[in-house]
Amino acid sequence: MSDRNIVAIANQKGGVGKTTTAINLGAALAQAGHPTILIDLDPQGNASTGLGIDAERRQRTVYDLLAGPESLSECAIDTDVPLLQIVPATPDLSSADVELSQTTERTRLLRRKLDRAPKGSIILIDCPPALGLLTVNAMVAADSVLVPLQAEFYALEGLSQLLTTVKQVRQTANPDLRINGVLLTMSDYRNNLSQQVEADARATLADLVYPTVIPRNVRVSEAPSHAQPVLDYDPASKGSIAYRKFAAEFAARLNLVAEEV
Ligand code: ADP
Ligand code: MG
Repeated sequence: MSDRNIVAIANQKGGVGKTTTAINLGAALAQAGHPTILIDLDPQGNASTGLGIDAERRQRTVYDLLAGPESLSECAIDTDVPLLQIVPATPDLSSADVELSQTTERTRLLRRKLDRAPKGSIILIDCPPALGLLTVNAMVAADSVLVPLQAEFYALEGLSQLLTTVKQVRQTANPDLRINGVLLTMSDYRNNLSQQVEADARATLADLVYPTVIPRNVRVSEAPSHAQPVLDYDPASKGSIAYRKFAAEFAARLNLVAEEV
């Protein structure tokens, strides 16, 4: 087991379940006893909102982490989930792309700060829906990339573009970057298309695809408006059960010993 596990949750498509996965994977890992820090790297700040971090609590944000002298521990704040912290985002992060592109070490800004991350924690980075400077910063800082894939037509098409970016990052700033896995999200078993996409994904990507598939579940989509992970909002829902199961598989891939699952 390594000291630290940094995983970027990335897919340049919007609405595929990146943020939902960041929140609920983070909550499930924390509930299983793993200290976890979620970095909200999307200017929309959906992960921050979904975890109930209101505007007054976004004093220090991921923008400060990237562009300022602040350390990770100075920017991470507690959530209502014990052992789960978040570095929140505000819309000013959207100007970061432009401002940061002026600096010389512009793809290594996040990595510089995460090099001193607390030992023993899991760091999840919720990426924006683009392969721009923010997502590249996440990939340069990360040990691996987790790709949520919505079980719908064309899902696999965007993947080659994502993998090209991973390759470019490997060739330049982060040779050790790996693919952690692919998580199928919003699957609907009454729908043949979901099953077809799952079969295609498993045929093409084999063991990279996690055994657990996240079902489309209304409780998952309701939870953010209650400022809670679905795991707290409705622990017995199908979505919660699936995210807990997936979190155990994820922890096993990171070689973490689960304290309880
Ligand atoms: P992304 O971060 O990739 O843009 P989100 O995680 O924000 O995607 O998800 C997009 C939308 O789909 C959100 O409204 C979210 O609540 C909803 N959603 C995500 N996963 C599920 C699911 N398993 N069941 C139902 N709705 C979901
Ligand atoms: Mg998102």
